[in-house]
Parts: sequence; structure tokens; C-alpha cells
Amino acid sequence: MASAGVHADLAKRRRAVLPDWLSLYYDEPIEVERGRGRHVWDAEGNRYLDFFGGILTTMTAHALPEVTAAVSEQAGRILHSSTLYLNKPMIELAERVAELSGIDDPRVFFTTSGTEANDTALLLATGYRASNQVLALRNSYHGRSFSAMAITGNQGWSPTSLSPVQTSYVHGSRRLGTPLSGLPDAEFTAACVADLEDVLGQLHGNVACLIAEPVQGVGGFSTPPDGLFARFKEVLDRHGILWISDEVQTGWGRTGEHFWGWQAHDERGAPDIVTFAKGIGNGLSVGGVIARGEIMNSLTANSISTFGGSPVTAAGAVANLDYLVEHDLQGNARRVGAVLREPLDAAVGRIPIVADVRGKGLMLGIELVRPGSTEPAPELAALVLEETRRNGLLVGKGGLSGNVLRIAPPLSVTEDEAREAARILLAALESAARS
Ligand code: PMP
Repeated sequence: MASAGVHADLAKRRRAVLPDWLSLYYDEPIEVERGRGRHVWDAEGNRYLDFFGGILTTMTAHALPEVTAAVSEQAGRILHSSTLYLNKPMIELAERVAELSGIDDPRVFFTTSGTEANDTALLLATGYRASNQVLALRNSYHGRSFSAMAITGNQGWSPTSLSPVQTSYVHGSRRLGTPLSGLPDAEFTAACVADLEDVLGQLHGNVACLIAEPVQGVGGFSTPPDGLFARFKEVLDRHGILWISDEVQTGWGRTGEHFWGWQAHDERGAPDIVTFAKGIGNGLSVGGVIARGEIMNSLTANSISTFGGSPVTAAGAVANLDYLVEHDLQGNARRVGAVLREPLDAAVGRIPIVADVRGKGLMLGIELVRPGSTEPAPELAALVLEETRRNGLLVGKGGLSGNVLRIAPPLSVTEDEAREAARILLAALESAARS
């Protein structure tokens, strides 16, 4: 269907002015020009089904009229006003977020990205606990600032050996949730909890917080057994250590069964701090932190984000959240996620390169290995990406070895679109298995 777009000139200009480490998908990169619903079009007019969610769980739908109208209306009034003045869209958005948060006495602070949200969470936790010792999980990704990289366990995304915080990793979390870890859920959970206790013992409990993604995103949609974080929380609570749930990918209903990723572990065991971004804004740069009042108000100096909660992005995010809730897109993630998952699950064992299908709701990962082995196969993931693109479907990849396909369509995706995507994906997997 879609022919490969040749944008050699643009690619060359990009290479001349952007850094080499900013990676680009596809042998012949796509210039995405416009989008509508679950589809995007490249500059040559080829249409693609976007199952990478406007690149990674960002979208409710492309060009959602409700969001476009709210943004245009607000842009026509005033683009920006400082947090030093009252800003109605920001207050409305904070009220919506607080209502949906599941946190007691919630306070919300807006940022412009997930990275800045996590930085703020670290600032709060380290100050509140008077410790700069932070625990994170193996293979984690928390953003690209100096401190967010310092807590990123996935070394491929953490190009610094220096660290503004002291980070220890919970090693038991290696190969989170994949059958390749070789352990059944209960034993896996026990091993991670024992590891956490061990790390805490070595640090004499003098730790500010544990930060974790309920389903690891960049790490390849690695999914811990339900209940793991509730067990972690029991241990952390004994020491007064805070638990930060990084919901940048898992928030806003993406995981289907729950509105927040942490709720799969224990509805009662709410985190002390939640960070969010991506899905709240339907592509607008909105991020932020939710924390109990006592923690949020513990900062002793002023702090401000010039563009965090700007009227335009806040107005768009309010419209987006209203749409999400009114159309029960969490329920849609659960229902359509199941339709998408069924044929993929059936590929495990049938297509010899498919080692595992995992994830929750509309956040599904397919782990690829060399046939008859447990060796990661990044080259096959790259082949599948090219083949699906040729057939009009965009998906992502990730994981420690780049061998996990990541599937995360806009939350408004339909069952028919899910069947169509599964058909294209399975054909590409079968073809890669024969290669
Ligand atoms: N946390 C997680 C779990 C993420 O997936 C990301 C982005 N991929 C971030 C934080 C950083 O967000 P941003 O790119 O908006 O800074």
C-alpha cells in the first residue's frame, strides 16, 4: 500500500543541524504531515494506521476537534500568562487531575514534560526525606535531564556516569515480567522484595524514595506481576520512604483495567507522588506532579515553571480529559486491547520468533528472539518495523536490546482498526520468521 517516502533532502538537513544521537526510525524516514483520529499521512500522501500513539501513548486521537477548538479559542484570547496571576484553565485542569488522582489531599504542579515532572518529584522527595539516596528499577526510563538520567537504569538512555543524586537499583527487577526471567510470578515478586530489603539494609534505610514505572515503557513494556508494588510499599512504609509512580506512559486509562498503572497493584496502596505527561495533553506539552499536600508544600523556597500549565495547553488538556472520561476511553482500552491481544497471544509458540506478548490494555509489547533460542533479535524487530510500515502500519520498538515491538494506539482506537493492525503485524512477523 504505502510507498516508502523519500525525503533525502530533509534527512540531510536534519543531520547537518540536529545531534547525531537523536535517533530516527526507518531506512527511509517518514515525514509525518498531518493526522486525524488513528491515522497519519506523510508528505507524499501515504496513509498509516498509527499504533504508536502519535509516538508513544500520547494520543486520544489525532486532531481531536474538541481539543483543537479549546486550543484555538484560548489562543485567540491570550497565549500565556504567568503563574503569578490567576489562570482559569490551569485551575480547572488541576481540579480535574486532583479528582482523578486517587491520592488523599492532592496538590498538583504542572510542568511541560515528563522529565521535568520526575525532576520535580525528586526535588520533593529528597527534600522531604532529607536524603539524596534514590532507588530505581533496572531497565527503567525516567527522562533526559541530568537527574532523570541518573535514575534511568536503562544505560542505553543514560549517557552520563555522573549523578546529582545517589541511585541504587533494585536488581531483582531485571527482565521484569518476561517469561525469560524463568520465574513464576510469586517467586519473581519474592525475589524483587528480597532484593529491595537487601539494598535498603546496605543503605541503612536512609533513602528518600523509590521511583518506578508500573509498566516499563522504553524498557520494552515489561510488566511486573500485579501486586509487586503493594509489596514494595509495605517495605518502604516501614522506613518512611516515599514511593513515586511514574505514570508518564501508564496514566489516563492506557492500561485498560485501571485509570492509573499503580492501581493494578493495590487500590488502597496509593503512591506518595505520581508523575504524568503525554496522554493528558493529546500531544500538547503538559506534564506534572501530584503529591499529598504535606509533601507538595514541603518545599521551603519558591519554584516556578514558566510554561507549566500555560492557559493554551491547560485548556486543551481540560478538553482532552473531558473527552477521555465522557467516552470511557479507559473501558475502550480494556475492550479493544483484548481484541488486539488475542491474535497476538496466539502467535506465541506458533511463530518461532515470538517469545512473549505482554503489557496491559493498549500498551502491548511483543518480544522477538532468534528462532529456537532465547537470544534477543533486534534485527528481526527492525525488519518487522519496515514491513509493517510498507503495509501502512506504524508501531514502535524498545527494550534493553531493541528487540521488543511496542504497540500503543490512540486510546480512541476501534475494534476494526485493532483487527486490521493485528493482521498486518502477524503477516510481518511470519515473514520475518521466514527470513
Ligand atoms: N517517564 C517515562 C516513563 C517515559 O516514558 C518518558 C518519555 N518516554 C519520560 C518519563 C520523559 O518524558 P518526556 O519525554 O516528556 O520528558
